[in-house]
Amino acid sequence: MIVVHGISLPPGEFGGPEIGALFTNTLDWDAHPYFGEIRGMEVSAHVLVPRDGTVIQFVPFTERAWHAGESCFRGQHRCNDFSIGIELEGEDDTPYDDRQYPALQAVIQALCAAYPAISPREVAGHCDIAPGRKTDPGPAFDWLRLYDGLGPGN
Ligand SMILES: [Zn+2]
Repeated sequence: MIVVHGISLPPGEFGGPEIGALFTNTLDWDAHPYFGEIRGMEVSAHVLVPRDGTVIQFVPFTERAWHAGESCFRGQHRCNDFSIGIELEGEDDTPYDDRQYPALQAVIQALCAAYPAISPREVAGHCDIAPGRKTDPGPAFDWLRLYDGLGPGN
């Protein structure tokens, strides 16, 4: 399956190198008060889509990334074991950038083509697989816009 996330570091700020630093375990925990709160957190995602719609891959799709945490999809727990994590730079209540949707769609279409077990029906938000614990990508993420862009037959 594919898990769609939203992340910003520090929260609410876009455009900096901090997300990439976090995913590569090089974040300076002392650089911002918020980073002190998450000090030592080890997380990663397969792909990050910043606001400008570029696509940055951090983990090979055939390897496990640490993005889902305690989670469940259709009765299967530990989603990290069987999912690809895509992080969108954003936050729950701020509209995602127009450039991020086509980039996300392109990644999903490429993954569906490469891995027949994945279809757009296997795309869920972090909020869906960890309800009550996670809210991203949040109400600002336009799921219908994502699905519309995936087109018929996908
Ligand atoms: Zn998330």
